[in-house]
Amino acid sequence: MNNQTAADTSLRALCQDCLRVVTYQNKEELLAAHNEEVFCQCSGQLCACGGCTDDIALLENGEFNAFDSLLSGVVKWDAETGATFAFKGGKA
Ligand SMILES: [Zn+2]
Ligand SMILES: [Zn+2]
Repeated sequence: MNNQTAADTSLRALCQDCLRVVTYQNKEELLAAHNEEVFCQCSGQLCACGGCTDDIALLENGEFNAFDSLLSGVVKWDAETGATFAFKGGKA
């Protein structure tokens, strides 16, 4: 399953919760997501702004520490399934 090279990378939105990347077929679908008419399957908000497009590039480059917060960090990420977070401080 490596047929994504033909996809238009400008038609992508990033879930603000699970960091899943959703690719749309056209601008109308993308706008519906961006306008909160459609949500991620985790019910998180999808965003397709320039900042989120940059964030997608960071995730694809494996730069997960850009998404670390004080309490948790991304340990694993996949565009289709989103991020796996781990809580810091040892005992979960
Ligand atoms: Zn999500
Ligand atoms: Zn955004």
